[in-house]
Amino acid sequence: MLADLVVRNALIADGSGGPLAGGDVAVAEGRIVSLGTGRVAAGPGTTELDARGELVCSPGFIDTHTHDDAALIRYPGLEFKVAQGCTSLVIGNCGFSAFPAVGGDDIAAVADAGWTDLDGYRRAVTARGFTCNAMALIGHNTIRMSVIGAGDPRPASPRELAAMRAQARRAMEQGACGLSTGLIYRPGKWASTEEIAEVARGAAEGGGLYASHIRNEGDRLLEAVGEAARIGREAGCPVHISHHKAAGRENWGRVRDSLAVIDEANSAGSDITLDFYPYIASSGPMGEYVTADTVTQEWAERNQFANCPPFPAYQGRRVSAVAAAEGLTVSELVGRVLTAPGGPRTITIGFGMSEQDLITNISHPRMMIGSDGIPDLDGMPHPRLYGTFPRVFAEYVRGRAVISLQEAVRRMTSLPAARFGLAGRGLLAPGAHADLVVFDPAKIRDLASYTEPKQEPEGVHWVVVNGQVVFDHGHHTGARPGRLLRFATG
Ligand SMILES: [Zn+2]
Repeated sequence: MLADLVVRNALIADGSGGPLAGGDVAVAEGRIVSLGTGRVAAGPGTTELDARGELVCSPGFIDTHTHDDAALIRYPGLEFKVAQGCTSLVIGNCGFSAFPAVGGDDIAAVADAGWTDLDGYRRAVTARGFTCNAMALIGHNTIRMSVIGAGDPRPASPRELAAMRAQARRAMEQGACGLSTGLIYRPGKWASTEEIAEVARGAAEGGGLYASHIRNEGDRLLEAVGEAARIGREAGCPVHISHHKAAGRENWGRVRDSLAVIDEANSAGSDITLDFYPYIASSGPMGEYVTADTVTQEWAERNQFANCPPFPAYQGRRVSAVAAAEGLTVSELVGRVLTAPGGPRTITIGFGMSEQDLITNISHPRMMIGSDGIPDLDGMPHPRLYGTFPRVFAEYVRGRAVISLQEAVRRMTSLPAARFGLAGRGLLAPGAHADLVVFDPAKIRDLASYTEPKQEPEGVHWVVVNGQVVFDHGHHTGARPGRLLRFATG
């Protein structure tokens, strides 16, 4: 068989974490056909990519924590992910997913939904085409909105519990990989541990996992990790802790304690993994963190506007600085923003973590990489949207030498592929799907910053999804070979 595409003379990091090996990677009909030394048959129609003996070829990176459900439709080229070397995205995180469709919800509004479940969402995105592969979680917040409503804090009735569990089960039957929660957000924060465990049983019945934005990432971090572990035990499913962190100066260092709790649970029979993003700032919807009544001067000094639909001029500026410039108190400013049309869609970036905790996180062998990028390109998004994966190589492989290159690749490829059920991906081997990234190990680095966030990284030469070149030296080819994958089968 003639190869469609060959990466010549690469340093092959196969995703296993083992040592790099020199050789070629050959692809035909979307699959890897051979790997290593030995001449591969190439014809006039073969695309040859020359790695010159100095570029690394690895499986494409898997972003385990995205909010790209609507982006598959709004930005189908997914340029901000592809340019980092990402070929697959886990969507539906933090309890919010594109299905079941909820009237008036932001994700559904983008596409003028027209779907009610994962099958319908798959048909809608597949008909339009998109560039990366995706694997879906179903979100507990979205389920709760569809069954109980968005604004109702009461406990679920037995009938509602059964309906929510059935939604999770149905999503698994349609190819989801599990259930996600966002327990600081409405309406998820009103759910008891028992409610979540019951809904998670629906995911467990389909072999899926429980992925959680846990109830507290500050002074009650350990308690929140304990709740997630308990839900996994009671539902009978693996647990994945999203964007593991300890926010607030008084909590710095707690990441270490939390990882110790997780190690202990794992040695007692739990199966807990994690992801993180390599930045000391977080980001999310302002209205979920503060109101005009609760905002403090200290919060306003630590936070900047990322996206502010009613007042775009605020974007990129600290909340406290905007208040001062407008002659308002921070409380008046927050009130003005949140009550303006479009105000509830305001996203802020908060500086609250320690660099040492990032190092502790990346040092853990079960730690994956999840950007948590919020794909709203109208504003000034957190730089993690464009920079996360190259930043791991620049900061933690080369800069601080915390982990080896092949270990970083393993955390971005085979570890998440196994965890989120991306069958035939994450490892380079004959027969595997041809998702590849070719990058310069000496030069790969992020350029996105808090003031210039929409900068694509450097050092990524080519990206291949399902055998098709989607990125070539800064140029997006426009190919849309992405698939919405089915858990454990492909
Ligand atoms: Zn989250």
